[in-house]
Amino acid sequence: MTPLDTATQDAITRAAALMARARHTVVLAGAGMSKESGIPTFRGDGGLWTINGEPPLNQYETFAADPRRWWERRIEEAAQPSDFAAAIDDAQPNPGHRALAELERMGAVAHLITQNIDDLHRRAGQESITEIHGNRHWMRCVACGMRWPKAEYIVDATELPPRCTQDGCGGIVKSDTVMFGEPIPALALERCARETRRADCFMTIGTSAVVYPAAGYPIDATRRGVPLIEINPEETPLTPLATVVVRAPSGEALPALIELLRTHRNGSTTTP
Ligand SMILES: [Zn+2]
Repeated sequence: MTPLDTATQDAITRAAALMARARHTVVLAGAGMSKESGIPTFRGDGGLWTINGEPPLNQYETFAADPRRWWERRIEEAAQPSDFAAAIDDAQPNPGHRALAELERMGAVAHLITQNIDDLHRRAGQESITEIHGNRHWMRCVACGMRWPKAEYIVDATELPPRCTQDGCGGIVKSDTVMFGEPIPALALERCARETRRADCFMTIGTSAVVYPAAGYPIDATRRGVPLIEINPEETPLTPLATVVVRAPSGEALPALIELLRTHRNGSTTTP
């Protein structure tokens, strides 16, 4: 790991001071964190959609019109995964994911809203988490919103689409990943809004902050005067709103932040 330059180190010191004073820091994470695990991004230079074009915007309509057909294609595709699917399946949590989970264990991060669908935050040990675009490794009932890790939900290929078994619900079950054209589950939106209202410090990590509603949470927080910390190697539309900008990847910035927060705590022995 290359040593951080002075400006970056200064920014992390100011970020640590903000977090040390906060009681409820909420984090919004995006594709930049997954990229550090070798998962291709969608937007921006070299992004999958930049190269291949955006996927159809009516994915959910297609699914809802014929869920059986959708499931049949899905099972065919699983036998021959795309490069992107293979990259996600092979990916491991990186130092950024592990440091973010450690910040939660330390009590320095209260909640994580992630736009990433790759499960790497959970695998790194993060517990208080809203996956606003779903989780590729989970399933969800479109009727009642019940979610299951995929391994626990056995798909019987003779009875497609699979149906929800929760209290006789019988709703159609799909991948938890939120499709284009699909409403984001209400429970996830409510939790994001609630956590954002409680936040007294907000941090964005590796998100280009162009996809709504996720991009709106840090904006809502700053309107209430909540300090915003941005961790991103690139400038984003949120940069002008940020109180502190850390121009570094999460895998370098977050471990340094942990060190400083520990120093803050050890130095504040006079606090009751
Ligand atoms: Zn259900």
